[in-house]
Amino acid sequence: MAGWQAVRTGWLAVVAVIALAVGAVWWFKLEPGPPRVAFAVGGERIGRTASGDVTVSSSGRPPLRWVEVRLAAGGQSVPLYREEFPPDAPPTREKSIHFAADLTQAGVAEGPATLEVAADTYAWHLLGGARGAVASRDVTIDSTPPRIDVLTTQHNLRLGGAGLVLARVSADAVDVQVVVDRYVFPAVRGYFADPEATLVLFAVPQDLTAQARPLLRASDAAGNATEVVLPVTIKDRNFPERQMGIDDAFLQRKVPEILTKVGKPVPVDLKDGYLTVNREVRRESEDKLHALTAHSAAEPLWTGPFHRQSNAAPMSAFADRRVYIYKGETIDRQTHLGYDLASLQRASVEAAQNGVVVFAGYNGIYGDTVVIDHGFGVASVYGHLSSIAVKEGQSVKVGETIGQTGESGLAGGDHLHFSIMLRGNHVDPVEWWDAHWLRDQVTSKLASLPVAKNAQTAAAPDAAAAADGQAQP
Ligand SMILES: [Zn+2]
Repeated sequence: MAGWQAVRTGWLAVVAVIALAVGAVWWFKLEPGPPRVAFAVGGERIGRTASGDVTVSSSGRPPLRWVEVRLAAGGQSVPLYREEFPPDAPPTREKSIHFAADLTQAGVAEGPATLEVAADTYAWHLLGGARGAVASRDVTIDSTPPRIDVLTTQHNLRLGGAGLVLARVSADAVDVQVVVDRYVFPAVRGYFADPEATLVLFAVPQDLTAQARPLLRASDAAGNATEVVLPVTIKDRNFPERQMGIDDAFLQRKVPEILTKVGKPVPVDLKDGYLTVNREVRRESEDKLHALTAHSAAEPLWTGPFHRQSNAAPMSAFADRRVYIYKGETIDRQTHLGYDLASLQRASVEAAQNGVVVFAGYNGIYGDTVVIDHGFGVASVYGHLSSIAVKEGQSVKVGETIGQTGESGLAGGDHLHFSIMLRGNHVDPVEWWDAHWLRDQVTSKLASLPVAKNAQTAAAPDAAAAADGQAQP
């Protein structure tokens, strides 16, 4: 019996050792499946740069051995990214990479291609089992940038003013805009019968210089871009400096009211509170106007020159450089981005042109404010109102009463603050009040190409010409 028991124990030990060894191999050297690959490409169309995000993870205990991203096209395979994980390094079982490979040197032909991610682990691949994993995405190689032909040859702008460019831009472009230094003016496409015909209303904002060089830029879905320097003449301007006296009565009347309305604390020192209003609240008010006027109707809603508030005297002009004086000291400097027009107290405020009300409410330094979209990125702003007679979404006609003047917001007396904005940037309203400027710089250019049948034609040249006779002063 003792002999049999010894033999049995011996066999059991051998079986246990084998089981342990098999278990160890299974645990450390085999895997339940190939590595998992999660894979997103930057876009289906690839230009100069192929990019994407990849996460590979081993499905079992064996760590990753290597990961590779490659582009397969026309029978060739171009490696774009490869990373090895050496056996003596700490084991990596999951790896996320972002790749961005420049294809310009790779000599890859345009057309269909496949982006592949391959990965393998340190697992033993027994019995001819699948070695590693490959995930792929079909893409198109496109290295041809959009084509731009600028149609308009004359772009005469004044610093702070606007202009219009017409161009033919190939249909592959997905993003077309005029870039003026840090300002961006998106194009309108689909307005003209010619599907390639494109228009951009753009400005040289007042804080730039006459040396600004507007560019027309078109980029396609693959990221290829074409830029054309526009032929422009920019007339320089010196904006006048104006001193604004600030006294304690004004601070007491305005600072607590505005800060409370915008939800900011009112400091004991009202001069500090005033600086918060004139800097922070001003910037927030501008940001809000910018956001409100960034989107616009894709057709012009106006029918001629813009209407200037009736019988109102200009108190302050566009881009006045304001110097704020308190107790004999300069405490701040800001630029006045519009026109201040004053007549009687509580005068009716008239819509400058046909459009759609996109905002009717309180906006910081502008107080109770109405913003009207006129299409093509043009909007008008009416600030410091004492009452508002329109609602957001409402269509208005030129001259229609939209409210009454007042002194809400940062206003020392009853007046209308009037701004014209182009794609969220203040421009000089004088141009839009001027029938000749509007005809020469905008309407005649728009009239030089046939309009698509489905586009509205409110700003047809006939309407503008008819309005010429009753131009505003
Ligand atoms: Zn103003």
